[in-house]
Amino acid sequence: MQKLIRGLHHFRTEIFSSQKELFEHLALGQRPDALFITCCDSRVMPHLITQAGPGELFVLRNIGNIVPPFGSKLCGAAAAIEYAVCQLGVKDIIVCGHSLCGAMRALIDPNQLKDMPTVAQWLIHAEATRAILRENYSHVPSEGLLSVAVQENVLTQLENLKTHPAVAARLASGQLRVQGWVYKMESGEVFIFHPDKGQFLLSCVETQAASPRRSLIGTSIQPFDSVFSTHQAQADILPIAQHVRRHGRHQVAADAGP
Ligand SMILES: [Zn+2]
Repeated sequence: MQKLIRGLHHFRTEIFSSQKELFEHLALGQRPDALFITCCDSRVMPHLITQAGPGELFVLRNIGNIVPPFGSKLCGAAAAIEYAVCQLGVKDIIVCGHSLCGAMRALIDPNQLKDMPTVAQWLIHAEATRAILRENYSHVPSEGLLSVAVQENVLTQLENLKTHPAVAARLASGQLRVQGWVYKMESGEVFIFHPDKGQFLLSCVETQAASPRRSLIGTSIQPFDSVFSTHQAQADILPIAQHVRRHGRHQVAADAGP
């Protein structure tokens, strides 16, 4: 705790005072670029990995970066989504999962939750992910299944997100974009889901698109498997094939599927 108290002091005397103008401006109101939905995991740091500053991200965190579908029992996640979209007018929503996620590990092995009934109840909102794993990935060795679960869960939660009327309406009118990301904490890399390619691809900033104002979405892509070992690439590419199949891109799935 002492470390945190020292941090408070450092922030007030060094950080806040050196950016006083910014914080005074932010006190007048917030206009964040994006709603960033991610896991509670202490190793996932939305502002650090995106290099966003104060006032730029509206962050919603919970166990497993879950988006309860619209109509679920009243919960804070739905309220945060509605507020970000309707009141703050965010232009982007990012659902960001991460490697080595404890929630996804528990989804695969529910025995881990026997003493945590509330967490078990919460993960009901990821039941579709569990069903997808059961029906489509029984052949995947256990060491690869966690990566599959993380990626499939991001896609499941993106689907849940679209059930919220405020999100659906603005997606339809082109005022809002949604993206699925996976943060690989071992390497600091972020993979962005590209629906047209049916894959999570490594993000990198386009040189020609560089501008003084940072954009979360202004990214280009690198081939996904160029950054993984052969073994790991195989595990990480599997869910992509399945996702493609779910969305009816059979010709691609036939090539890439297991
Ligand atoms: Zn997690």
